[in-house]
Amino acid sequence: MSVIDRITDLRTRIRGAVTTPEDPTWDQARQAWNLAVDQRPAVVVEAADTADIVETVLAAREAGLRIAVQGTGHGAAARGGDLGDAILLRTSALRGVTVDPERRVARVQAGALWEDVVAASAPHGLVALHGSSPDVGVVGYTLGGGLSFLARKHGLASSHVTAIDIVVPSGELVHATAVECPQLFWALRGGGGSFGVVTEMEFSLLPIDEVHAGVLMWPADRASEVLARWRDLTDRLPEEVTSIGRLQSFPPDPAVPEPLRGKQMVVVEAVSLLGENETAALLQPLRDLRPELDTFTTGAPTMLLGLHGDPPHPVPAMGGGTMLAELPDAAIDAVIEMCGPGSGSPLIGIEFRHLGGAVGRCAEGAGALSCLQGRYAVFMVGAVMSPELAGALEQAIPATIDGLAPWATGGAFLNFTEMPIDASQAFGTTTIRRLRDIAAAIDPDRLMVANHQVRAY
Ligand SMILES: Cc1cc2nc3c(=O)[nH]c(=O)nc-3n(C[C@H](O)[C@H](O)[C@H](O)COP(=O)(O)OP(=O)(O)OC[C@H]3O[C@@H](n4cnc5c(N)ncnc54)[C@H](O)[C@@H]3O)c2cc1C
Repeated sequence: MSVIDRITDLRTRIRGAVTTPEDPTWDQARQAWNLAVDQRPAVVVEAADTADIVETVLAAREAGLRIAVQGTGHGAAARGGDLGDAILLRTSALRGVTVDPERRVARVQAGALWEDVVAASAPHGLVALHGSSPDVGVVGYTLGGGLSFLARKHGLASSHVTAIDIVVPSGELVHATAVECPQLFWALRGGGGSFGVVTEMEFSLLPIDEVHAGVLMWPADRASEVLARWRDLTDRLPEEVTSIGRLQSFPPDPAVPEPLRGKQMVVVEAVSLLGENETAALLQPLRDLRPELDTFTTGAPTMLLGLHGDPPHPVPAMGGGTMLAELPDAAIDAVIEMCGPGSGSPLIGIEFRHLGGAVGRCAEGAGALSCLQGRYAVFMVGAVMSPELAGALEQAIPATIDGLAPWATGGAFLNFTEMPIDASQAFGTTTIRRLRDIAAAIDPDRLMVANHQVRAY
C-alpha cells in the first residue's frame, strides 16, 4: 500500500476533509494565504475538531509522514523544507473564540483570526495585542512573539499567553501553563511551531475603551525630512505611543482614493493611549511639516484593525525584514536611494516599527521570546504579480536588507522574516540551545515542519 493509500484511510477516522492530489479540489485545498507560495504536500487535512488533530498526528506517524500546520498561510513563505513527505494540516475551520470578561481572558481555537478575537472582545471593552492585519492567525502570530500597535506599552503578545493546549508529536493532548509543562509553555511563547499542533490558546486582554490613532502622509519626495523628523521624535515618545514610519506605494487602481492612486507616499502611523491633546502636542513636529493627509481621530480600538491598510484577502507577496539598532540620516538616505522615488525598487512598502519601551525589556517569567532587541523592526514587501517581479524581488529584498546592514543589530524577528533562516539569529545562544533541547525531547522523530524550525531540517 502506498503512503497516500495509507493516509487516505484517515477519511474514515476523522470528521474533517482529506484531500489528495487526485481530488478536483486539490489546488484550492493546498493554497496558502500567500498566493506566491506553491505548497505541494502529500495530502491536505482540514481538521474539524481536536480529535481530528490527534488522529492526523497519529496517522502521520504510522505512514512515515510529517506534519506542517497551517492556520492561514500568511507565514507560508517562512516555512522551509519540502512538503512532499508532509501532511498539510489546516486548522482554518476552527475559529471559535470565547471571552471571559470577568477574568479578562480570551480562549481561541487553532484557526481563529485576529478579527474574530476583536469581534468577541470589543463588546466587553477589552483589547487583544493583535497585529496590523485582521486575517492573520492568532496562533501563528503569537507563537512567533506578536508585535502589536500597543507593543511599546504592553510588550509582545506571547508574554500575555496564560495557557496552551497542544497535541505533541506523540499524539498526546497536553495542557501547558506556567505550572503544568512549564518548559513546553516557555518554548511556545515566542519559540514558534516546532513543538506540536496547538489546538487552543488562552491569553489576557486589556481594558481599553479608546485610542487616539491615525496616519499622516506626504508625497515620497518629502521622505528624507519626514523620516528624519519621525526618527527624532522616536527618541522622546512615551511608551503609550507606538508608531511606524514607512514608504508606501499605492497601485493605480480605481479602488484607491484619488490623492493616493498610483503614488508613492511617506507615511507616519501612530497609536496612542494618551488623550487627543497630549498626543497632538507630541506629534506637532510632524504636523509642522504639513502632511497632505491627516486621519488622526479618537475612537474605539476596533479601528486599529484597518489602520495599516493590510490586504483584506489573499495576495501573492514576497517580504523580508531586519532589525536596526539605529536609524541615522545615512540609513534614511540609503533607504530612499534603494526604495524611494526613482529607485525602480519592486518593493511596494518598507516600514520601520518603533520598538523600545515594554517590548525592549525582557519580561521576567515570559517565554522564549520576551523582548525584541533594537530600536526599529523593519519589514519590506512586494507584490509578486509576474515571474519578472518575483525575480526582481528575490534580488531586491536581500539587497535592501544588506544595504541596511551597517545599522542592523544582527538579530531577527521571525514574524517579519519571510524566508527560512537559521532560527538562532532570533534568539540568544542559551535560548536557542534550550529550545532545541525541548524540541529534541518532544519531537525526537522530527515530525513537525514548522516555519522557522528551531532545529535545522
Ligand atoms: C499582511 C501581514 C501582516 C502582518 N502583520 C504582523 C504584525 O503586525 N505583527 C506581527 O508580529 N506579525 C505580523 N505578520 C507576520 C505573521 O504574524 C506571521 O506570518 C505568522 O506566522 C502568521 O501566522 P498565521 O497563523 O496567520 O500563518 P500560517 O502560515 O498559517 O502559520 C505560520 C506558522 O505558524 C505555525 N502555526 C500556525 N498554527 C499553528 C498551530 N495551530 N500549531 C502549531 N503551529 C502553528 C506553523 O509553524 C506555521 O508554519 C504579518 C504578516 C502578514 C502577511
